[in-house]
Amino acid sequence: MGKKCMICGAEGEYIIKNTSDVYCKDCAADCFSDLSFLQKVEEQAQELKQMVKKKMEEDFLNED
Ligand SMILES: [Zn+2]
Repeated sequence: MGKKCMICGAEGEYIIKNTSDVYCKDCAADCFSDLSFLQKVEEQAQELKQMVKKKMEEDFLNED
C-alpha cells in the first residue's frame, strides 16, 4: 500500500496539501525549498481517518 512519488516512483512520503500530488523526500526537497505546505502522507491519512470518524459520529448524532 501507499502512494508513489509522481516524479521518480519511489515510495511517497510527502503530499501537497489539498491535492493528490505525492513526492518522496528527495524529490520534495529538490522541487520545494519550503516544505511547509507539504504534508506527510501518513499525517494526511491520520487526518482523513479523524475526519471520517467525526463525520460518522455527527451522522450518528443527527439520526432521529
Ligand atoms: Zn521521488
